[in-house]
Amino acid sequence: MTNNTIAFIGAGNMSRAIIAGLVANGYPAKNIIAANPSIGKLDALHQDFGITITQDNVAACSQADLIVLAVKPHFIQPVCEQLAKNVSLSNKCFVSVAAGVNIKPIQNALGFAAPVIRCMPNTPSQLGLGVSGMFASAEVSDPQKHLADTLMASVGIVQWLEAEENIDDLIAVSGSGPAYFFAFMEAMQNKAIALGFNPQQARALVQQTALGAAQMVVENHDQEISTLRENVTSKGGTTQQALLTFAQGGLPELVDKAMQAAKDRAIAMA
Ligand code: NAD
Repeated sequence: MTNNTIAFIGAGNMSRAIIAGLVANGYPAKNIIAANPSIGKLDALHQDFGITITQDNVAACSQADLIVLAVKPHFIQPVCEQLAKNVSLSNKCFVSVAAGVNIKPIQNALGFAAPVIRCMPNTPSQLGLGVSGMFASAEVSDPQKHLADTLMASVGIVQWLEAEENIDDLIAVSGSGPAYFFAFMEAMQNKAIALGFNPQQARALVQQTALGAAQMVVENHDQEISTLRENVTSKGGTTQQALLTFAQGGLPELVDKAMQAAKDRAIAMA
């Protein structure tokens, strides 16, 4: 598996995160190549990880078994058309991380029913703590799927989806999800400041509380999240008063509405 060559088209934040994860997990740098129009980001990738770099997408893909399309969504079509014209693409598999670009337009731009995997990572992938939703077109072979799984498992957990539409569901949960937690933490931080803590203290209190709560969920995976909540809610106590206020304000319904709005927007954008 590790003797397969992986080419990254686009050497931005997402490619950098995945390359860092791959190399940290022992994937040979000599089998990773990145292409980008400008040299600055490429040089940094070469210096930091020892991978091969090029400013020529065609050269990068000619040698590759797996091609990661990591350019902004509007560049996917021209990049694929360029590759279709200049590279023999049989036996190559594509992984697209571009938000909102379906498999069919990618295959159309490539000019044939290529094996394409659509992948939706989220931003904590940059720390190796991401969630990637993956859906493979019917043309993808098992070894190709396995290689793509290795690719994204290097930056977090991977969830294979049964239908491409499930990507829109996943966007509403893990794709946009980090920002939901940021918004909640921001509101808590503002109130902590209003209560008299200085901004540094407020941030420290909020971020460590969020981290600790998340870690408790991870470590107590045999317990429901609702049980963890109940365990820290004494009858008549402070936590119960706060949770009652959330319930009276319609927090569960609001979260439902917000996540539905994210899903509807994902569908409209695709
Ligand atoms: P980015 O802007 O950091 O990187 C894109 C890179 O592509 C740039 O370095 C740019 O110079 C290069 N590029 C532009 N045109 C090119 C071309 N024709 N050939 C080769 N390279 C070209 O963007 P990013 O944050 O890395 O996002 C890349 C893709 O990943 C996007 O489609 C985005 O939707 C998706 N994505 C990103 C995240 C994230 O957390 N950053 C999360 C989910 C999905």
